[in-house]
Amino acid sequence: MAKRIAIFPGSFDPFTKGHYDIVNRGLKIFDEIIVAIGYNSKKQNRYFEIDMMVSKLKETFENEPRVSIIVYNKLTSNLAKDLGAGFLLRGLRNTTDFEYENSISQVNKYLNEELESVFLITAPQYAAISSTIIREVHRFSGNVDEFLPYKIEK
Ligand code: ADP
Repeated sequence: MAKRIAIFPGSFDPFTKGHYDIVNRGLKIFDEIIVAIGYNSKKQNRYFEIDMMVSKLKETFENEPRVSIIVYNKLTSNLAKDLGAGFLLRGLRNTTDFEYENSISQVNKYLNEELESVFLITAPQYAAISSTIIREVHRFSGNVDEFLPYKIEK
């Protein structure tokens, strides 16, 4: 049987414990997960450097050979074709996520009919964690360690 390869695409600015939980649970479903850090057209200016995020993630998953980290700047549906990935993994926290994910998954299906989006419902302990809130806390020198699966400089 062909390998079940999933892409977990996102801005990951920063990658949080909520994202980490989705990857770990995704590993029960997929043979390989590619965490793909993309440039979201609405979020051009990152807060956390993309290179820093890549190295933190490589460190975080260094003992998990089934997870790899890449940066991309193209349509996610085309990235999936290029990498031979049949699945898109996404997390759902609430109805706002649902509305957004629903529309992008329809578009992705239209662009690449072979691609199946798979959604995992966030574990309750991570449901309130968002990259946006973490950026705000960090900006005002708050401690964000509790929300991240790695340590970052203050
Ligand atoms: P994007 O800019 O593409 O929305 P994000 O980095 O914000 O990228 O999120 C990537 C994916 O992770 C999305 O599917 C999002 O719903 C999901 N996600 C974000 N925060 C959490 C969380 N706390 N728990 C589970 N999934 C999450």
